Amino acid sequence: MNYKIAVVAGDGIGPEVMEQNINVLNAVGEKFGHTFEYTYVLGGGCAIDKYGEPLPQETIDVCKASDSVLLGAVGGWQWDTLPGDKRPERALLGLRGALGLYANLRPATLHDALKDACPLKPELVADGVDIMVVRELTGGMYFGEKGRKQTDMGEAAYDVEQYAVKEVERIARTAFEIARKRNKHVTNVDKQNVLESSRLWRSVVLEVAKDYPDVELDHLYVDNASMQLIMRPATFDVIVTGNIFGDILSDEASQMTGSIGMLPSASLGEGTLGMYEPVHGSAPDIAGKDIANPIATILSGAMMLKYSFGLLEEAKCIEDAVTKVLNKGYRTGDIMSEGMTQVGCKKMGKLVIENL
Ligand code: NAD
Repeated sequence: MNYKIAVVAGDGIGPEVMEQNINVLNAVGEKFGHTFEYTYVLGGGCAIDKYGEPLPQETIDVCKASDSVLLGAVGGWQWDTLPGDKRPERALLGLRGALGLYANLRPATLHDALKDACPLKPELVADGVDIMVVRELTGGMYFGEKGRKQTDMGEAAYDVEQYAVKEVERIARTAFEIARKRNKHVTNVDKQNVLESSRLWRSVVLEVAKDYPDVELDHLYVDNASMQLIMRPATFDVIVTGNIFGDILSDEASQMTGSIGMLPSASLGEGTLGMYEPVHGSAPDIAGKDIANPIATILSGAMMLKYSFGLLEEAKCIEDAVTKVLNKGYRTGDIMSEGMTQVGCKKMGKLVIENL
């Protein structure tokens, strides 16, 4: 098969980690008989420098016309003084909006080889951690009505948490479908004891669940979920939740994995087009030094194969290769520990390819 991929490598370490991702994808393509055709477009700070705006129309058009989008990272101190709507990070929100991506998938997987880097007690993670947080990305408080008004207590500000049935339905379906491909267990997280929006959210999740009798469903209030995540992380499979709760819980879950350099993510919409990117930023402090960890970006490439192209075997091949490299003791600086062999970004990419 031939797949068209838009590449927004971005700023800082974005292009370095993306280069390794592309090398790995090409090697997998060769092994399994697929061709990946890349179109490189600008987004973020580099687009501001060239076009005066973080997300040029050409970038949006190329992404929309592709089968999938790979993103490195955007941002850097050069652009820090620009006003909010002109900053590199606008490229991320703009692309998500333009591509209609409403589901954010954030896996938190603790590799056996990195168990020492997990801040939790060893007995809590003895059974491993493999959690997929499915976060609603385009609704809730971040996008609801917001404003200021005068009250008896002085000036007040508000951000409205609002969810419509269809918004909940589609994210719930995404979560159940993903659970079917994993351990068939969805934990819905809301705050229905207090919030009306959560009461609607939960009723819709319960309705959707009727179509997935093979998937176990349970519910947690968000405050309890944040505790349970660190008390019994091994018991979670898929967590589905709204935008603000997901923002917080996905970061909490990610801390169990050792380093931000290990964390991939995906943003999906109605069709198969998705955007795949590492969770980390452009890390200007280490850019250009060949020391960034490319694994988060390489694993984002594996997610693309799985969720946009349905190439499950190929995706697993990449995930297994990463595990093998870690088991052999190779580490980039961010995950380095005593007795291991420290390698740079390029070498890590090469090692993954050798272990495919
Ligand atoms: P960051 O994620 O870029 O870096 C945080 C720390 O983690 C730094 O010490 C960095 O060196 C380290 N780090 C990050 N990725 C690493 C990797 N792959 N390997 C090894 N170490 C790694 O966050 P920040 O410093 O807060 O932000 C830097 C810039 O990135 C800012 O302009 C910010 O707005 C932007 N940002 C972009 C995204 C994105 O593109 N999705 C996300 C977060 C931040």
